[in-house]
Amino acid sequence: MIIPKIAVGDTLSLKKKHPCGSSDFEVLRVGSDIRIVCRGCGRDLTLPREKLEKAIRRIRHPQDAADAQENGGQTP
Ligand SMILES: [Zn+2]
Repeated sequence: MIIPKIAVGDTLSLKKKHPCGSSDFEVLRVGSDIRIVCRGCGRDLTLPREKLEKAIRRIRHPQDAADAQENGGQTP
């Protein structure tokens, strides 16, 4: 079994959609419980790590986006 690496600032796509229709959540806090905020409506929720890990479809790390921007992107 692969244990997903979750870090603050990551965007998680969950298998279960939030009632607002969005399935993207940003990680606010990581511990034994993980706090995430919905990208669609801005509500935050706290889930036990174990439960959240099972619900994750995809994790996007902020540095992945930064790497993609290196092609023609500019640094401040
Ligand atoms: Zn929502």
